[in-house]
Parts: sequence; structure tokens; C-alpha cells
Amino acid sequence: MSDCIFCRIAGGEIPSTKVYEDDEILAFKDIHPQAAVHFLIIPKRHITSLAEVGAADAPLLGRMLALAPQLARELGLQDGFRTLINTGRIGGQEVAHLHLHVLGGPVPLGPMLVRQ
Ligand code: 5GP
Ligand code: ZN
Repeated sequence: MSDCIFCRIAGGEIPSTKVYEDDEILAFKDIHPQAAVHFLIIPKRHITSLAEVGAADAPLLGRMLALAPQLARELGLQDGFRTLINTGRIGGQEVAHLHLHVLGGPVPLGPMLVRQ
């Protein structure tokens, strides 16, 4: 059994509210949503972070990114959304399995970072 929480979600050991699934990719609702709609798109294969990817991963990354607008539309985000990938310690990544956040809702999300 993996000790990676997103590998366990991808393997069905931990339940999630799925938004999309195919052989390579899973999308599911974030457990602590930061917006009215907040879901994560992950590769089923364990990739620790965006810092680990290389040219060979480009097709997979492209598919993940291309899914974002499709799923956003399906979840009612007709007027825009935000995509976000936190990477490593400085990027504030909490779960060490690559994931693309997609956030949106009825009201604008505001600036990306809190300005000092
Ligand atoms: P990070 O800070 O690594 O970019 O984001 C990790 C995200 O995963 C957080 O938004 C957090 O709420 C979400 N998360 C952590 N554990 C779980 C879980 O067990 N299930 C789901 N659905 N989301 C999770
Ligand atoms: Zn993993």
C-alpha cells in the first residue's frame, strides 16, 4: 500500500468525489475547497511534483491541462477559472503527488497572491 494519499485516492483505497477518470488521469473535488468549485487533476502514476517532470511527460501534462477547461465548463464555470500548481517547499506544496488545482465560482477570485 502506498503512503502517498493521492496514489491511494487514484487506486480507490481512499474515497473521493470524482469529476473525471481515464486510464492515466483522475480529477476529484478538493476536500477543503478554496472556492465554490475547486477540484484537482492528477496523473494516476506517481509524480512527486512539477519539478520532477521532463519532456517525456509532456503529452500527459498536456492532457491534464486540456482537461481543465472541459471539466470547468461541465461544472458550470462558464466565465473563467484559475489553474494552479504548487511545487515544492517554496511553492507551498502540501501533497507530494503532482496536482493541478482548478478553482472558480460565481464571483471573481481576486488577486492570485496576497499583496504586501
Ligand atoms: P497543495 O497545497 O499540495 O497544492 O494542495 C493539496 C490539496 O489537496 C489541498 O487543497 C487539500 O485540501 C487537498 N487534499 C488533501 N488531502 C485530501 C484528501 O484526502 N482528499 C481530497 N479530496 N483532497 C485532499
Ligand atoms: Zn502518489
